[in-house]
Amino acid sequence: MKIVFATHNPNKLKEVAALLPNIDLLSLTDIGCTEEIPETADTLEGNAQIKANHVTEKYGYPCFADDTGLLVTALNGEPGVYSARYAGEDGNAEKNMDLLLTNLKGKSDRSAYFKTIICLNLNNQQHLFEGVCDGEILKERQGLEGFGYDPIFKPKGFDSSFAEMSLAAKGKISHRGLAVQKLIEFLQKI
Ligand code: IMP
Repeated sequence: MKIVFATHNPNKLKEVAALLPNIDLLSLTDIGCTEEIPETADTLEGNAQIKANHVTEKYGYPCFADDTGLLVTALNGEPGVYSARYAGEDGNAEKNMDLLLTNLKGKSDRSAYFKTIICLNLNNQQHLFEGVCDGEILKERQGLEGFGYDPIFKPKGFDSSFAEMSLAAKGKISHRGLAVQKLIEFLQKI
């Protein structure tokens, strides 16, 4: 079975492909989808659905898409669904981390969690899978691996940030890894 993973993010593709060695995973590039798929919903579920539906409706493939947010307790769940654009439309991971560290200055509660929703479109049905990873926001960057907010996120029960972990170690405990695990269990049953 060929399934498209609807992302233009090479880091995500690498992470997920490593978790799905037995599935014939196609990227957006593989199917000729070069357009940016707009993420206009105000929920993670909504954005994952938009991305998966775009591919299934326009290209006719079974497809799954993920959307992830970092929810920080002391900031009332910000940046949440707006994690990619926290520092503005022309921002980037460095600017997003700088803004988050600035907004958390002086706050004693640094707890946060990543949440991933995966939306799978298969055989005219839609299925949602969720993964959550609890942790805290570090005071400064640690590590060079990974992407996004990884250098400032330390998962609960570990001494290192996500950016100090290997792909495999992060995949075992991360929000995306846990959601993919549920996707795998589902695909094994059909
Ligand atoms: P999206 O799922 O691509 O919309 O991700 C939203 C934002 O969260 C992006 O800025 C990503 O960099 C960030 N993000 C998503 N997944 C991770 C992760 O596993 N680690 C760190 N940042 C992430």
